[in-house]
Amino acid sequence: MDHETFRRYGHELIDWVADYMRNVETYPVLSRVSPGEIRDRVPPSPPEEGETMEAVIEDFRRIILPGITHWNHPRFFAYFPANHSGPSILAELLSAALGINAMLWQTSPAATELEERVMDWLRQMLGLPGEFRGVIQDTASTATLCALICARERSSGFRINEKGFMGGVMDGALRIYTSGEAHSSVEKDARIAGFGSQNVVKVDVDAAFAMVPEDLEKRILADRNSGLIPCCVVATVGTTSSTALDPLRPIGEIARRYGLWLHVDAALAGSAAILPEKRWILDGIELVDSFVFNPHKWLFTNFDCSAFFVRDPEALTRTLSILPEYLKTDLDRQVTNFRDWGIQLGRRFRALKLWFVIRSYGVEGLRTKLRDHLRWAQEFKEWVEKDPDFEILAPVPLNTVCFRFNPWGEGASAEDLERLNKAVLDEVNRSGRIFITHTKLKGDFSLRLCVGQTQTQRHHVREAWEALCETRTVKKHRKG
Ligand SMILES: *Cc1c(COP(=O)(O)O)cnc(C)c1O
Repeated sequence: MDHETFRRYGHELIDWVADYMRNVETYPVLSRVSPGEIRDRVPPSPPEEGETMEAVIEDFRRIILPGITHWNHPRFFAYFPANHSGPSILAELLSAALGINAMLWQTSPAATELEERVMDWLRQMLGLPGEFRGVIQDTASTATLCALICARERSSGFRINEKGFMGGVMDGALRIYTSGEAHSSVEKDARIAGFGSQNVVKVDVDAAFAMVPEDLEKRILADRNSGLIPCCVVATVGTTSSTALDPLRPIGEIARRYGLWLHVDAALAGSAAILPEKRWILDGIELVDSFVFNPHKWLFTNFDCSAFFVRDPEALTRTLSILPEYLKTDLDRQVTNFRDWGIQLGRRFRALKLWFVIRSYGVEGLRTKLRDHLRWAQEFKEWVEKDPDFEILAPVPLNTVCFRFNPWGEGASAEDLERLNKAVLDEVNRSGRIFITHTKLKGDFSLRLCVGQTQTQRHHVREAWEALCETRTVKKHRKG
């Protein structure tokens, strides 16, 4: 592609992006295609001859767009958000244009040094301890994997890296403790890091779905008594089902008492700590060894951007650095080489979009948006509470509401309620007006609405409620 052609289509596509952001509401939120439909419309083999950009862009509109679920639709309330913003998109464009690999300081000093700076900005914004150092990872799953490997190495005196799990380094299995409400990535990471699923101990949760510290201590002691080796606790601040908040202070005190690594997964909820009135969710953070949250979830920064902080960067780099000759530079002693801070060698220039976002909104601008989301989620909760046909299934400390349709009251069976609510979910999502998802809480099927999109306004949340209310007329008789 010559430069002038690039310029022409570049302008055209920026116009398209601006229109998309303005008009995203006109699309159905959830894609309506059937499995295989998009694949069938893309030729099974690549073109021998180059095609025009016109043809490619036309097919983007015709083939690809119908298969898109619009995560940045203001009526997207499913899962947790992956929100974006104008400044973030522009920074991603620049990052793509530079096309750098930020693996070493030398491979782009600005990428490394900006990352150090903006991660420290985030540290200050969330009120994390002064000694915490940050690195951007692709996802929380990867950050938690890094934490588990650090914990493993700390427990084994850095010898499992050397000899492997089968090398006879440990006298017993290393154990990880997390709550039954923790994200599935904890167990997946435990498998990848060699602990094994059966060494992930699921600690009890209380009525608010938060980890019970007394049960944590009980399980640690029981394991020690049976010759197992307690290694790591993964606490969740803002569980994926219901944004339950594990209490960091008592958990941290127990982790300290028994010498366990404490990692905190705050993938969504960490963002809320930029609000002084929500800082309490991280009370006890000074007892934590590592912490992750995702600006790509609820801080208007394009996927992917996961902020991982460690108290002792040396524990991390000692665990993950490996230095072949071809990567050595004369400056290694003076500079940060982020390749030593994670799994991947090659790294994208992700700090740029954070920098653009934080500067463009300002911290106060970001706070305003989060406060709106929190307020509207509370309002939604109140609408649910006031309606005798609906009920709340978990506390709503942040922006996520777990609820169900239950016109039958106390006597209804869990199976009937599940069938009914699945039908409600199906119907509202098929309408294309909103997209919400479900979870299970203590075995009960729950609908779930999370307010966190960049362009969401109060009236969008109201529309979600209205869409849900409309399904009731057809479903109000027993057994759907
Ligand atoms: C979303 C989520 C994750 C996974 O995040 P990725 O960045 O997609 O790996 C992990 N933990 C919690 C609590 C989450 O909500």
